[in-house]
Amino acid sequence: MTEGSQLAKFLKQILHDGFVAPAHRQVGANQENHKSPLAPLCIDRGDGGIRKRWHRLTQMNPANRLILSAIQLLPRPLVKPFAMRYIAGEELDDAVRVVRAVNSKRMMGTMDVLGENVGTREESLAAVGACEEVLHSIHYNRLDANLSIKLTQFGLKIDEEFCRTNVKRLLGIASGYNNFVRIDMEDSSTTDETLGLYERLRSEGVEHVGVVIQANMRRSEEDVLRLIPVKANVRLCKGAYIEPDAIALRGKEEIRLNYLKLLKRLLEGKCYVGIATHDDFLVNGAYQYIQEMNLPRSDYEFQMLYGVKGRLRDRIVADGHRLRVYVPFGRSWYAYSIRRFKENPQIAWYVFQAIFSGS
Ligand SMILES: Cc1cc2nc3c(=O)[nH]c(=O)nc-3n(C[C@H](O)[C@H](O)[C@H](O)COP(=O)(O)OP(=O)(O)OC[C@H]3O[C@@H](n4cnc5c(N)ncnc54)[C@H](O)[C@@H]3O)c2cc1C
Repeated sequence: MTEGSQLAKFLKQILHDGFVAPAHRQVGANQENHKSPLAPLCIDRGDGGIRKRWHRLTQMNPANRLILSAIQLLPRPLVKPFAMRYIAGEELDDAVRVVRAVNSKRMMGTMDVLGENVGTREESLAAVGACEEVLHSIHYNRLDANLSIKLTQFGLKIDEEFCRTNVKRLLGIASGYNNFVRIDMEDSSTTDETLGLYERLRSEGVEHVGVVIQANMRRSEEDVLRLIPVKANVRLCKGAYIEPDAIALRGKEEIRLNYLKLLKRLLEGKCYVGIATHDDFLVNGAYQYIQEMNLPRSDYEFQMLYGVKGRLRDRIVADGHRLRVYVPFGRSWYAYSIRRFKENPQIAWYVFQAIFSGS
Protein backbone atom coordinates (compact mmCIF):
# COMPACT_ATOMS: atom_id res chain seq x y z
CA MET A 1 0.00 0.00 0.00
CA THR A 2 1.39 3.47 -0.82
CA GLU A 3 1.95 6.10 1.87
CA GLY A 4 -0.90 8.13 0.34
CA SER A 5 -3.43 5.30 0.36
CA GLN A 6 -2.53 4.30 3.94
CA LEU A 7 -3.12 7.86 4.99
CA ALA A 8 -6.38 8.05 3.04
CA LYS A 9 -7.57 4.88 4.77
CA PHE A 10 -6.68 6.33 8.16
CA LEU A 11 -8.46 9.60 7.44
CA LYS A 12 -11.59 7.80 6.29
CA GLN A 13 -11.54 5.73 9.48
CA ILE A 14 -11.34 8.85 11.64
CA LEU A 15 -14.15 10.55 9.76
CA HIS A 16 -16.31 7.49 10.16
CA ASP A 17 -15.46 6.34 13.70
CA GLY A 18 -13.64 9.20 15.36
CA PHE A 19 -10.14 8.43 16.55
CA VAL A 20 -9.97 6.11 19.50
CA ALA A 21 -6.51 4.99 20.47
CA PRO A 22 -6.33 1.40 21.68
CA ALA A 23 -5.74 1.29 25.43
CA HIS A 24 -2.21 -0.03 25.12
CA ARG A 25 -1.37 2.85 22.85
CA GLN A 26 -3.13 5.68 24.57
CA VAL A 27 -0.63 7.26 26.88
CA GLY A 28 2.87 6.86 28.05
CA ALA A 29 3.53 3.83 25.85
CA ASN A 30 6.07 5.74 23.86
CA GLN A 31 7.18 2.98 21.57
CA GLU A 32 3.67 2.28 20.43
CA ASN A 33 2.81 5.91 20.35
CA HIS A 34 5.27 6.52 17.55
CA LYS A 35 3.11 4.30 15.39
CA SER A 36 0.19 6.62 15.87
CA PRO A 37 -0.51 9.18 13.16
CA LEU A 38 -0.73 11.70 15.96
CA ALA A 39 2.74 10.89 17.19
CA PRO A 40 4.41 13.88 15.51
CA LEU A 41 2.39 16.09 17.84
CA CYS A 42 3.27 14.21 20.98
CA ILE A 43 6.65 15.40 22.09
CA ASP A 44 7.82 13.46 25.12
CA ARG A 45 9.62 15.77 27.48
CA GLY A 46 9.85 13.00 30.05
CA ASP A 47 7.40 14.81 32.31
CA GLY A 48 4.14 13.23 31.30
CA GLY A 49 4.02 15.58 28.29
CA ILE A 50 2.70 12.89 25.99
CA ARG A 51 -0.18 12.18 28.35
CA LYS A 52 -1.17 15.86 28.50
CA ARG A 53 -0.72 16.50 24.81
CA TRP A 54 -2.63 13.38 23.90
CA HIS A 55 -5.44 14.49 26.20
CA ARG A 56 -5.61 17.91 24.55
CA LEU A 57 -5.48 16.45 21.07
CA THR A 58 -8.30 14.05 21.75
CA GLN A 59 -10.32 17.02 23.03
CA MET A 60 -9.93 18.87 19.72
CA ASN A 61 -12.76 18.56 17.27
CA PRO A 62 -12.24 15.79 14.69
CA ALA A 63 -11.65 18.20 11.83
CA ASN A 64 -8.78 19.89 13.65
CA ARG A 65 -7.31 16.55 14.63
CA LEU A 66 -7.43 15.50 11.03
CA ILE A 67 -5.74 18.59 9.76
CA LEU A 68 -2.89 18.41 12.21
CA SER A 69 -2.28 14.71 11.90
CA ALA A 70 -2.68 14.64 8.13
CA ILE A 71 -0.48 17.59 7.40
CA GLN A 72 2.34 16.43 9.60
CA LEU A 73 2.38 13.02 7.95
CA LEU A 74 2.85 14.45 4.51
CA PRO A 75 6.20 14.87 2.80
CA ARG A 76 7.30 18.50 3.06
CA PRO A 77 7.29 19.17 -0.71
CA LEU A 78 3.57 18.39 -0.70
CA VAL A 79 2.93 20.78 2.20
CA LYS A 80 5.03 23.61 0.80
CA PRO A 81 2.50 25.08 -1.67
CA PHE A 82 -0.02 25.44 1.19
CA ALA A 83 2.62 26.91 3.48
CA MET A 84 3.52 29.57 0.95
CA ARG A 85 0.24 31.42 1.37
CA TYR A 86 1.57 32.57 4.78
CA ILE A 87 5.14 33.30 3.71
CA ALA A 88 6.56 36.00 1.46
CA GLY A 89 9.05 33.59 -0.11
CA GLU A 90 12.44 32.09 0.60
CA GLU A 91 14.61 35.14 -0.11
CA LEU A 92 14.96 38.62 1.34
CA ASP A 93 14.01 40.09 -2.05
CA ASP A 94 10.65 38.30 -1.78
CA ALA A 95 10.00 39.89 1.61
CA VAL A 96 11.06 43.32 0.35
CA ARG A 97 8.60 43.00 -2.52
CA VAL A 98 5.77 42.04 -0.17
CA VAL A 99 6.53 44.83 2.30
CA ARG A 100 6.59 47.33 -0.57
CA ALA A 101 3.14 46.17 -1.60
CA VAL A 102 1.97 46.36 2.02
CA ASN A 103 3.38 49.90 2.35
CA SER A 104 1.62 50.95 -0.85
CA LYS A 105 -1.65 50.10 0.92
CA ARG A 106 -0.76 52.44 3.82
CA MET A 107 0.19 49.55 6.08
CA MET A 108 3.47 49.00 7.92
CA GLY A 109 5.45 45.77 7.98
CA THR A 110 7.45 43.70 10.40
CA MET A 111 9.87 41.28 8.79
CA ASP A 112 10.74 37.89 10.25
CA VAL A 113 13.56 35.59 9.16
CA LEU A 114 11.98 32.17 9.66
CA GLY A 115 13.71 29.76 12.01
CA GLU A 116 13.57 28.72 15.64
CA ASN A 117 15.18 26.35 18.12
CA VAL A 118 18.52 26.28 16.37
CA GLY A 119 21.00 23.79 17.76
CA THR A 120 24.40 25.39 17.15
CA ARG A 121 26.14 28.74 17.59
CA GLU A 122 26.95 28.77 13.87
CA GLU A 123 23.26 28.56 12.99
CA SER A 124 22.49 31.35 15.45
CA LEU A 125 25.16 33.59 14.01
CA ALA A 126 23.87 32.91 10.50
CA ALA A 127 20.41 33.98 11.69
CA VAL A 128 21.83 37.16 13.23
CA GLY A 129 23.58 37.88 9.93
CA ALA A 130 20.32 37.39 8.02
CA CYS A 131 18.51 39.76 10.41
CA GLU A 132 21.25 42.36 9.97
CA GLU A 133 20.65 42.15 6.23
CA VAL A 134 16.98 42.77 6.86
CA LEU A 135 17.70 45.93 8.84
CA HIS A 136 20.08 47.25 6.15
CA SER A 137 17.57 46.40 3.47
CA ILE A 138 14.69 48.17 5.25
CA HIS A 139 16.85 51.28 5.41
CA TYR A 140 18.18 51.25 1.84
CA ASN A 141 14.81 50.39 0.33
CA ARG A 142 13.12 53.03 2.51
CA LEU A 143 10.55 50.53 3.73
CA ASP A 144 8.14 51.34 6.52
CA ALA A 145 8.97 48.22 8.51
CA ASN A 146 10.72 46.87 11.57
CA LEU A 147 12.07 43.47 12.56
CA SER A 148 10.61 40.60 14.61
CA ILE A 149 12.95 37.99 16.07
CA LYS A 150 12.76 34.71 18.01
CA LEU A 151 15.24 34.18 20.83
CA THR A 152 15.59 30.43 20.25
CA GLN A 153 16.89 31.33 16.79
CA PHE A 154 19.56 33.46 18.43
CA GLY A 155 20.77 30.73 20.77
CA LEU A 156 18.55 31.08 23.86
CA LYS A 157 18.60 27.31 24.41
CA ILE A 158 22.35 27.13 23.85
CA ASP A 159 23.63 29.88 26.13
CA GLU A 160 21.59 32.81 27.41
CA GLU A 161 24.53 35.20 27.48
CA PHE A 162 25.44 34.32 23.89
CA CYS A 163 21.82 35.00 22.91
CA ARG A 164 21.83 38.36 24.70
CA THR A 165 25.02 39.39 22.87
CA ASN A 166 23.39 38.49 19.56
CA VAL A 167 20.28 40.50 20.35
CA LYS A 168 22.33 43.51 21.44
CA ARG A 169 24.31 43.38 18.21
CA LEU A 170 21.08 43.64 16.23
CA LEU A 171 19.68 46.33 18.48
CA GLY A 172 22.85 48.35 17.85
CA ILE A 173 22.22 48.24 14.10
CA ALA A 174 18.52 48.96 14.51
CA SER A 175 19.33 51.95 16.69
CA GLY A 176 21.65 53.36 14.00
CA TYR A 177 18.70 53.33 11.62
CA ASN A 178 16.24 54.56 14.22
CA ASN A 179 14.41 51.29 13.80
CA PHE A 180 12.76 48.87 16.23
CA VAL A 181 13.06 45.17 17.08
CA ARG A 182 10.21 43.08 18.48
CA ILE A 183 11.05 39.91 20.42
CA ASP A 184 8.36 37.34 19.57
CA MET A 185 7.10 35.11 22.37
CA GLU A 186 7.63 31.39 21.89
CA ASP A 187 6.43 28.42 23.96
CA SER A 188 6.24 28.48 27.76
CA SER A 189 9.73 27.03 28.18
CA THR A 190 11.06 30.42 27.08
CA THR A 191 8.69 32.92 28.75
CA ASP A 192 10.77 33.69 31.85
CA GLU A 193 14.00 34.10 29.88
CA THR A 194 12.32 36.22 27.21
CA LEU A 195 10.72 38.62 29.69
CA GLY A 196 13.92 38.62 31.76
CA LEU A 197 16.02 39.60 28.75
CA TYR A 198 13.52 42.29 27.77
CA GLU A 199 13.55 43.80 31.26
CA ARG A 200 17.33 43.72 31.38
CA LEU A 201 17.59 45.51 28.03
CA ARG A 202 15.18 48.17 29.21
CA SER A 203 17.07 48.62 32.48
CA GLU A 204 20.19 49.21 30.36
CA GLY A 205 18.40 52.05 28.61
CA VAL A 206 17.42 50.27 25.37
CA GLU A 207 14.11 51.77 24.22
CA HIS A 208 13.65 50.53 20.66
CA VAL A 209 12.69 47.00 21.64
CA GLY A 210 9.32 45.36 22.27
CA VAL A 211 7.96 42.14 23.66
CA VAL A 212 4.87 39.93 23.28
CA ILE A 213 2.22 38.82 25.75
CA GLN A 214 0.01 35.78 25.07
CA ALA A 215 -3.58 36.03 26.33
CA ASN A 216 -3.93 32.26 26.63
CA MET A 217 -1.32 32.10 29.39
CA ARG A 218 -2.57 32.20 32.98
CA ARG A 219 0.52 34.14 34.06
CA SER A 220 -0.02 36.97 31.59
CA GLU A 221 -1.93 39.31 33.89
CA GLU A 222 0.98 39.26 36.33
CA ASP A 223 3.42 39.79 33.47
CA VAL A 224 1.42 42.76 32.24
CA LEU A 225 1.48 44.29 35.73
CA ARG A 226 5.28 43.91 35.64
CA LEU A 227 5.54 45.55 32.23
CA ILE A 228 3.30 48.57 32.84
CA PRO A 229 5.72 50.48 35.12
CA VAL A 230 8.42 50.41 32.41
CA LYS A 231 5.87 51.50 29.77
CA ALA A 232 6.71 48.45 27.71
CA ASN A 233 5.93 48.28 24.02
CA VAL A 234 3.77 45.14 23.95
CA ARG A 235 2.32 43.07 21.15
CA LEU A 236 -0.75 41.34 22.54
CA CYS A 237 -1.78 38.07 20.86
CA LYS A 238 -3.81 34.99 21.81
CA GLY A 239 -0.82 32.63 21.81
CA ALA A 240 0.08 30.12 19.13
CA TYR A 241 1.54 27.23 21.14
CA ILE A 242 -0.23 24.22 22.65
CA GLU A 243 0.42 24.46 26.38
CA PRO A 244 -0.61 22.37 29.41
CA ASP A 245 -3.96 23.20 31.03
CA ALA A 246 -2.21 24.01 34.30
CA ILE A 247 -0.60 27.09 32.79
CA ALA A 248 -2.84 27.98 29.87
CA LEU A 249 -6.47 28.85 29.25
CA ARG A 250 -8.13 26.62 26.72
CA GLY A 251 -11.63 27.88 25.93
CA LYS A 252 -12.08 30.30 23.04
CA GLU A 253 -14.28 32.62 25.10
CA GLU A 254 -12.05 32.71 28.17
CA ILE A 255 -9.03 33.53 26.00
CA ARG A 256 -11.00 36.31 24.32
CA LEU A 257 -12.08 37.75 27.67
CA ASN A 258 -8.55 37.59 29.00
CA TYR A 259 -7.30 39.29 25.84
CA LEU A 260 -9.69 42.20 26.35
CA LYS A 261 -8.86 42.45 30.03
CA LEU A 262 -5.11 42.58 29.30
CA LEU A 263 -5.63 45.03 26.46
CA LYS A 264 -7.56 47.37 28.73
CA ARG A 265 -4.87 47.21 31.41
CA LEU A 266 -2.08 47.89 28.92
CA LEU A 267 -3.86 50.81 27.29
CA GLU A 268 -4.84 52.33 30.63
CA GLY A 269 -1.26 51.80 31.76
CA LYS A 270 -0.10 53.95 28.81
CA CYS A 271 1.81 51.14 27.13
CA TYR A 272 2.08 51.22 23.34
CA VAL A 273 0.15 48.14 22.21
CA GLY A 274 0.36 46.09 19.03
CA ILE A 275 -3.16 44.64 18.91
CA ALA A 276 -2.32 41.41 17.10
CA THR A 277 -5.42 39.46 16.10
CA HIS A 278 -7.68 38.51 13.18
CA ASP A 279 -10.64 37.97 15.46
CA ASP A 280 -13.45 40.45 14.61
CA PHE A 281 -14.74 40.20 18.17
CA LEU A 282 -11.42 41.41 19.55
CA VAL A 283 -10.98 44.04 16.86
CA ASN A 284 -14.41 45.43 17.75
CA GLY A 285 -13.53 45.29 21.47
CA ALA A 286 -10.33 47.20 20.78
CA TYR A 287 -12.26 49.81 18.76
CA GLN A 288 -14.51 50.32 21.76
CA TYR A 289 -11.60 50.88 24.18
CA ILE A 290 -9.90 53.23 21.73
CA GLN A 291 -13.07 55.28 21.52
CA GLU A 292 -13.83 55.23 25.25
CA MET A 293 -10.28 56.23 26.18
CA ASN A 294 -10.10 58.70 23.32
CA LEU A 295 -6.71 57.31 22.29
CA PRO A 296 -4.70 58.99 19.56
CA ARG A 297 -3.52 56.78 16.66
CA SER A 298 0.03 57.07 17.92
CA ASP A 299 -0.73 55.06 21.09
CA TYR A 300 -1.41 51.69 19.43
CA GLU A 301 -1.41 49.77 16.18
CA PHE A 302 -3.23 46.73 14.87
CA GLN A 303 -1.13 43.83 13.67
CA MET A 304 -2.01 40.93 11.38
CA LEU A 305 -0.19 38.04 9.74
CA TYR A 306 0.66 37.99 6.05
CA GLY A 307 -1.83 35.79 4.20
CA VAL A 308 -4.65 36.09 6.75
CA LYS A 309 -7.88 38.10 6.44
CA GLY A 310 -6.93 40.76 3.91
CA ARG A 311 -10.40 42.27 3.98
CA LEU A 312 -10.29 42.91 7.72
CA ARG A 313 -6.88 44.54 7.27
CA ASP A 314 -8.29 46.88 4.63
CA ARG A 315 -11.25 47.74 6.83
CA ILE A 316 -9.08 48.63 9.83
CA VAL A 317 -6.92 50.94 7.71
CA ALA A 318 -9.99 52.49 6.06
CA ASP A 319 -11.32 53.18 9.58
CA GLY A 320 -8.24 55.32 10.18
CA HIS A 321 -6.10 53.03 12.36
CA ARG A 322 -2.47 52.09 11.90
CA LEU A 323 -1.83 48.49 10.96
CA ARG A 324 1.31 46.39 10.65
CA VAL A 325 1.60 43.16 8.66
CA TYR A 326 3.91 40.40 9.92
CA VAL A 327 5.90 39.22 6.90
CA PRO A 328 7.91 36.02 7.40
CA PHE A 329 10.35 34.74 4.82
CA GLY A 330 13.15 32.21 4.52
CA ARG A 331 13.81 28.53 4.05
CA SER A 332 12.84 27.33 7.54
CA TRP A 333 9.13 27.61 6.87
CA TYR A 334 7.88 24.35 8.34
CA ALA A 335 7.24 25.01 12.07
CA TYR A 336 5.72 28.43 11.39
CA SER A 337 3.40 27.03 8.73
CA ILE A 338 2.19 24.19 10.93
CA ARG A 339 1.11 26.76 13.54
CA ARG A 340 -0.82 28.65 10.87
CA PHE A 341 -2.49 25.48 9.58
CA LYS A 342 -3.62 24.72 13.11
CA GLU A 343 -5.51 28.01 13.08
CA ASN A 344 -7.13 27.35 9.73
CA PRO A 345 -9.23 24.16 9.69
CA GLN A 346 -10.41 24.93 6.15
CA ILE A 347 -7.03 23.95 4.82
CA ALA A 348 -7.88 20.33 5.73
CA TRP A 349 -9.93 20.02 2.59
CA TYR A 350 -7.10 21.30 0.43
CA VAL A 351 -4.90 18.72 2.09
CA PHE A 352 -7.40 15.95 1.40
CA GLN A 353 -7.46 16.93 -2.24
CA ALA A 354 -3.69 16.83 -2.37
CA ILE A 355 -3.61 13.39 -0.73
CA PHE A 356 -6.21 11.86 -2.98
CA SER A 357 -4.90 13.33 -6.19
CA GLY A 358 -1.44 12.05 -5.22
CA SER A 359 -2.46 8.50 -4.31
C1 LIG B 1 1.21 40.09 13.99
C2 LIG B 1 1.11 38.84 14.80
C3 LIG B 1 2.18 38.42 15.54
C4 LIG B 1 2.09 37.28 16.34
N1 LIG B 1 3.14 36.92 17.15
C5 LIG B 1 3.00 35.88 18.00
C6 LIG B 1 3.99 35.58 18.96
O1 LIG B 1 5.01 36.25 19.08
N2 LIG B 1 3.78 34.52 19.78
C7 LIG B 1 2.63 33.74 19.70
O2 LIG B 1 2.48 32.80 20.48
N3 LIG B 1 1.70 34.02 18.77
C8 LIG B 1 1.84 35.05 17.94
N4 LIG B 1 0.85 35.33 17.03
C9 LIG B 1 -0.22 34.33 16.77
C10 LIG B 1 -1.39 34.49 17.70
O3 LIG B 1 -1.00 34.14 19.00
C11 LIG B 1 -2.55 33.61 17.26
O4 LIG B 1 -2.12 32.27 17.25
C12 LIG B 1 -3.10 33.95 15.89
O5 LIG B 1 -3.09 35.31 15.65
C13 LIG B 1 -4.54 33.47 15.76
O6 LIG B 1 -5.33 34.11 16.71
P1 LIG B 1 -6.44 35.21 16.33
O7 LIG B 1 -6.44 36.24 17.39
O8 LIG B 1 -6.21 35.71 14.97
O9 LIG B 1 -7.81 34.46 16.49
P2 LIG B 1 -8.42 33.12 15.73
O10 LIG B 1 -9.66 32.86 16.49
O11 LIG B 1 -7.37 32.10 15.64
O12 LIG B 1 -8.71 33.69 14.32
C14 LIG B 1 -9.78 34.58 14.04
C15 LIG B 1 -10.16 34.37 12.57
O13 LIG B 1 -9.06 34.73 11.74
C16 LIG B 1 -8.92 33.82 10.67
N5 LIG B 1 -7.63 33.12 10.76
C17 LIG B 1 -6.84 33.02 11.86
N6 LIG B 1 -5.72 32.34 11.56
C18 LIG B 1 -5.82 32.01 10.26
C19 LIG B 1 -4.98 31.29 9.36
N7 LIG B 1 -3.84 30.78 9.74
N8 LIG B 1 -5.39 31.13 8.09
C20 LIG B 1 -6.56 31.64 7.67
N9 LIG B 1 -7.41 32.33 8.47
C21 LIG B 1 -7.05 32.50 9.75
C22 LIG B 1 -10.08 32.86 10.77
O14 LIG B 1 -11.15 33.38 10.01
C23 LIG B 1 -10.46 32.92 12.22
O15 LIG B 1 -11.78 32.60 12.43
C24 LIG B 1 0.90 36.50 16.30
C25 LIG B 1 -0.19 36.95 15.56
C26 LIG B 1 -0.11 38.10 14.85
C27 LIG B 1 -1.32 38.58 14.12
